[in-house]
Amino acid sequence: MILEQIDENLLKIANESDVVLKDIYEKIDDVCFYNSNRILSAFIENNVSYSDFADMNGYGSYDSGRDKLEAIFATILGCEDALVRPQIMSGTNALYLTLSALLQHGDTMISLSGAPYDSLQEMIGISGESSQSLKAHGVSYEQIDLVDNDFDDDKIVERLKKNDVKLVEIQRSKGYSSRLSLTLSKLERIITKIREVNKDVIIMVDNCYGELVEKKEPGHIGADIVVGSLMKNLGGGIAPTGGYIAGRKDLIFMCAERLTAPGIGKDLGANFNMNNTFFKGVFMAPNAVKNALKSAVFSAYMLEKLGFNNVSPRYNEERTDIIQTLELGTEENLVKFTQAIQNSSPIDSFVATMPAPMPGYPHDEVMAAGTFTSGSTIELSADAPVVAPYTLYIQGGLTLEYSKLSILFALTNVLKK
Ligand SMILES: *Cc1c(COP(=O)(O)O)cnc(C)c1O
Repeated sequence: MILEQIDENLLKIANESDVVLKDIYEKIDDVCFYNSNRILSAFIENNVSYSDFADMNGYGSYDSGRDKLEAIFATILGCEDALVRPQIMSGTNALYLTLSALLQHGDTMISLSGAPYDSLQEMIGISGESSQSLKAHGVSYEQIDLVDNDFDDDKIVERLKKNDVKLVEIQRSKGYSSRLSLTLSKLERIITKIREVNKDVIIMVDNCYGELVEKKEPGHIGADIVVGSLMKNLGGGIAPTGGYIAGRKDLIFMCAERLTAPGIGKDLGANFNMNNTFFKGVFMAPNAVKNALKSAVFSAYMLEKLGFNNVSPRYNEERTDIIQTLELGTEENLVKFTQAIQNSSPIDSFVATMPAPMPGYPHDEVMAAGTFTSGSTIELSADAPVVAPYTLYIQGGLTLEYSKLSILFALTNVLKK
């Protein structure tokens, strides 16, 4: 059994952690309760019924379940409307769908949070030579870098005074970068400033890993369109695939027409008998996020107590996403750590992790994903681009108990030498 194999000193620190982390865990519980209220209320307001779980095939006409699911996502995210579909196969797909629907030849987009997430680089045309990139379709890209982990307000305001920018993109979570993730209060400050000088620019937020971590979502503070993955927070560890886009009704209409066809928009599309699973996923999402957050806090605490440097965020730092990073310095350490997490996972625990190319990503990746849903990162997982400074990104955990066992077992093996 695993518990017997865990190093005794580690167990002792873990037991102490329950006392030290009590207040932090309580704050996480409070956010979960608050967000659960919003979600249960949305289910009741939308009259979700057993009949909404009916399996629709073919064109999926008149699927009330699909419509109600999208209404619930809109409410949760503080938006007018949403598109939540298994045909949107991931967060990356949702981001590309949004950008390609909203940007036309001659338009300019600006990233306000520095270089965008790795899987966006080729779609924008920052790298690669795809004939389907935004750049190939005549869209210009600019970037304003963060300063001290925060927006460069002056530069952003100055640039947006001229009304020649169609869309700005903000990435809430750090992605594979070493910066801090951007809290909702920072997002709110910059969105307010943007609106003072520019009424028209579309404000888009890549919300991946951020959903339900705070009491508000980007839609509540003025974002026009918000995008994410169902293999992460809002899938609740239950959705088997998918992505979402939520936002202003007119913008969602454009994304829907881009996904299906002009004239069809949101009205068609079979959900492959997954309505029940999507509803259940989003219903369980506050709890999944709560457990993922506690797992991240617990991991940070253990790593700090064991003397690991470069743990971010620190266990007692404010969080706006479920990501925990650990800088490991060498490829060997990175692979070793990932291997230990893989060996302590419920699925494929016997598998060897190795750096390998991943579609859409510029560097080789090494990933521990011993998960029920392939590649799911709301389940306990650890991944990294194999590039200096060899930072490991740890996230997820469906229950704190399972995370504790896995992390302690993994740490035991890492420290064994
Ligand atoms: C994970 C992630 C994405 C992409 O989502 P996938 O479902 O993995 O395609 C985009 N942006 C950020 C910040 C992410 O963390």
